[in-house]
Amino acid sequence: MVVKKIMYRISKSLREIYYSYYPDKEFLLLSENSLVWGLRIETCNICNANCIFCAYQYQKRKKMIMPEPMFNKIIDDYNFMGGGNLGITPVVGDPLIDPLILSRIHYARQFSNIKTISTFTNCINLHEVGIKNLLTSGLNSITVSTSGFDLELHEIIYRSKKAERMKRNLIDLLTINKELGNPCEIKIGLRTCQSLKEVMSDKEFMEIVKLSNEVDINYYFEDWSGAIRSTDLLRGMKIRPFSLLILRRKTPCWMLYGELAVLSDGTVAMCGCHELEGDSDLVLGNIMDSSLMDLYRSEQANMIRKNWLNGSKIPDICRSCLNYNPYTFGMLKETRIKANG
Ligand code: SF4
Ligand code: SF4
Repeated sequence: MVVKKIMYRISKSLREIYYSYYPDKEFLLLSENSLVWGLRIETCNICNANCIFCAYQYQKRKKMIMPEPMFNKIIDDYNFMGGGNLGITPVVGDPLIDPLILSRIHYARQFSNIKTISTFTNCINLHEVGIKNLLTSGLNSITVSTSGFDLELHEIIYRSKKAERMKRNLIDLLTINKELGNPCEIKIGLRTCQSLKEVMSDKEFMEIVKLSNEVDINYYFEDWSGAIRSTDLLRGMKIRPFSLLILRRKTPCWMLYGELAVLSDGTVAMCGCHELEGDSDLVLGNIMDSSLMDLYRSEQANMIRKNWLNGSKIPDICRSCLNYNPYTFGMLKETRIKANG
């Protein structure tokens, strides 16, 4: 297994380097004309936690729930341009605080062009939405962000007094999902200073893990363009190292070739990964003023891609972004199948 993983990493890196010298024009054309990867919508930018590793604590944007007509317009636009995967995933915030979350999923689900619908949550507010309601809403995938069942540690990392509630909700989520015949894929994303072995030493946690589809642990954390420093984290939590410097100068980030993010006030950006204030040089406009397709295919979007591709300008927000991946990453066979499938 380990050898297979190492071989995959090597082959992936070689293919990325190859394609950075010999771009696949067919892929670039496909990417520039349709959203091959997916659409991310932040339906609310409000959170019930305040994680030490998250820039939510520095957000200055107005906290709000996205108006229903705005959400429906985005979905209509997305459907019109062919649809794809949909992530109801805020830049910062928890989607289960949104009182309209279920009706939004129902609205999106009626379009066959919308493939998978996924979301991320800290699980603290899940009981308010209703577990069965969420699991049978048409949602395909839920990723739960947690530190595990060491509740004191959860309180320190998530800075929430609701660790017990999170634990109850997560157990119920996995149990009910099984009873319903697993309508949703459920992944657990661990954000902790503990090792996987330490987290798994909790018997209850180990039991529920067997019901989940995947457990992943974050060894590295984003720095949110310098907002989060290693001194903000606990011992054992590290800021992701800066890498791929040579590729970055030569090849644009893959997020610019296949994704758009819409913030809760309608701001549309080419990438939502660090769009904390909705004011970066990747912002294309507001969804209430243009269609999703016009924004995606706009002169501005094309200039951003081309300027980076020909080496004349890397967007400021991307210069030190630790989430950078070369666009060649999206051209790899395995990713293409997923994106176009
Ligand atoms: S739960 Fe998510 S959005 Fe909320 S503070 Fe933590 S990482 Fe940020
Ligand atoms: S470099 Fe970072 S901010 Fe820029 S497009 Fe890529 S992931 Fe987004």
